Amino acid sequence: MANERKQQKRIDVEYERLDSEAEAGGYHLNPDIEFTKELIEGLLVNEERYGYSSCPCRLASGDKTIDLDIICPCDYRDADVVEYDACYCGLYVSRSVIEGRKKVSKIPERRPPVQARVEPAVTTKTKSQPLPYPIWRCRVCGYLCARNSPPEECPVCRARKERFEMFIRNAP
Ligand code: SF4
Repeated sequence: MANERKQQKRIDVEYERLDSEAEAGGYHLNPDIEFTKELIEGLLVNEERYGYSSCPCRLASGDKTIDLDIICPCDYRDADVVEYDACYCGLYVSRSVIEGRKKVSKIPERRPPVQARVEPAVTTKTKSQPLPYPIWRCRVCGYLCARNSPPEECPVCRARKERFEMFIRNAP
């Protein structure tokens, strides 16, 4: 009983954290709080199991380098919210859903097969435009920044440093 209460407290705290981060970043959690908390429980379970909060609706490999794209918020969230008004799990929804103008329905899987995911996305620099710094891209929201290394946290969607990829190399 005490363990259940402790787990519920963790879920509630995580819910509050995710909700305030989402609203601050222009995102919205699903207004069905019970459903949303079930997903958050799944995220917490995965964090304990794998050491990272992989998507509660997808099967993780257990290898963080392979699962990076499905650590919540996953690389596919924004595209799915734009196209289908919700992420694959339904944890994040569009403003239209919040305002009751649209309903969440089944979202098709956007995640590509593993081979397509492991190929590097680095673009080669152009000879005519050498850059003083590399360009880093947040794989979650697409935020771009020019600096020697990616920020500790994406200022837009709060994804961690590891979710950035080098988008354009700088001059050698
Ligand atoms: S944002 Fe992505 S990882 Fe997070 S719950 Fe939604 S589909 Fe799963």
